[in-house]
Amino acid sequence: MRTQIAIVGAGPAGLLLSQLLHKGGIDTIVLERRSRTYVEARIRAGVLEPGTVDLLTHAGADGRMRREALIHDGLAIAFGGRIVRVDLKALTGFPVTVYGQTEITQDLIAARLGHGGKLVFEAENVALEGFDGAHPHVSYESGGQTHDIACDFIAGCDGFHGVSRSCVPGSALTLYERELPFGWLGVLSETRPVDDELIYSRNERGFALCSMRSKTRSRYYVQCPISDAVEAWPDDRFWDELRRRIPAGAAERLVTGPSLEKSIAPLRSFVAEPMAFGRLFLAGDAAHIVPPTGAKGLNLAAADAGVLAAGLIAYYRDGDRTGLDTYSETCLKRVWRAERFSWWFTAMTHRFDDDAFGRRLQTAEFDQIMGSRAAATAFAENYVGMFRAG
Ligand SMILES: Cc1cc2nc3c(=O)[nH]c(=O)nc-3n(C[C@H](O)[C@H](O)[C@H](O)COP(=O)(O)OP(=O)(O)OC[C@H]3O[C@@H](n4cnc5c(N)ncnc54)[C@H](O)[C@@H]3O)c2cc1C
Repeated sequence: MRTQIAIVGAGPAGLLLSQLLHKGGIDTIVLERRSRTYVEARIRAGVLEPGTVDLLTHAGADGRMRREALIHDGLAIAFGGRIVRVDLKALTGFPVTVYGQTEITQDLIAARLGHGGKLVFEAENVALEGFDGAHPHVSYESGGQTHDIACDFIAGCDGFHGVSRSCVPGSALTLYERELPFGWLGVLSETRPVDDELIYSRNERGFALCSMRSKTRSRYYVQCPISDAVEAWPDDRFWDELRRRIPAGAAERLVTGPSLEKSIAPLRSFVAEPMAFGRLFLAGDAAHIVPPTGAKGLNLAAADAGVLAAGLIAYYRDGDRTGLDTYSETCLKRVWRAERFSWWFTAMTHRFDDDAFGRRLQTAEFDQIMGSRAAATAFAENYVGMFRAG
């Protein structure tokens, strides 16, 4: 078997890359370890920057999003009884779009298959070889048989726990990592959201986030010890804890119901540099992770796919290697801006045990956003993803 680009992983990065390359006349094969049903049901992110919406539009996968997504002009940050609304649209000219990663994945898979795209689900033991030379290839097992794909380039879009990054010799990568001592317990429920916009809440009991996926489907999170098991959080306990951490008005409006999904996610900052090695390019969570507070993970994955697609299209169309040679450098600029923002926003809104000094700093950070249009604008630019070159 032969293709131009072998893509490992059918998450947002891999699927969007495949679809953008298809639009540019480039052939791809996507290898995914999980089943289609599993991939399409996975609950994750939901806040899209304008740049991500543009890429999905360019990919021709924006039809349902245009009809069903919610447009949010602002968000609220609650802090010990005070609330500030950050008017993203007024401060930056851009809103954010609320549309679930689950829906994006379904739309991209439908778009790929609708155009005869080659997606291999349940591909086992994917192995990447030869990417440090001129003839990369990828092998995998399916239906009890081993298959081999010869290609020009490999895109490693297989997430933080994937195989691609671990194929690069350790000496060629520098890893930067910080783990946080807590996680997020998330609940999805078929209930009316507590507000029309997101509420980020810093409370003495810990952080909470009121988010949503639609006008009838809510997504809520509470900060919890990373050692907690989901079983320790029956629905009633979750709703009680959430109610105690969010502003009084929101707590009164809160509609509870059975959880459709409940999971605990670790919070971590991680970057692997560089994001390219020979003919292998890493994209999305395979190369970097952010704590979800800034809603950047999915958006960074999409941005990487956009930069890589542009570089590959220029290479095949004009023989111009510039975009490929600068891929890592270009992406890492955005990645580190998002790492900084996500780390800072997490530090400002979460409870760190017995850190009285840190709590005073959190208050000062909040006062700054509340009292300064310049500070609120800086926050809003980061949140909507306006990472101007420095
Ligand atoms: C539990 C959880 C909750 C999250 N919540 C949020 C949130 O609220 N907000 C936010 O902004 N971000 C959130 N994120 C982050 C966001 O979802 C990710 O940044 C985004 O999914 C990255 O997309 P990706 O395509 O790079 O990687 P992924 O979505 O991880 O996709 C990688 C794909 O590769 C496949 N794969 C892995 N290994 C192999 C292999 N060996 N062979 C073949 N295929 C393989 C995987 O099955 C997967 O389909 C969350 C992440 C997690 C894990």
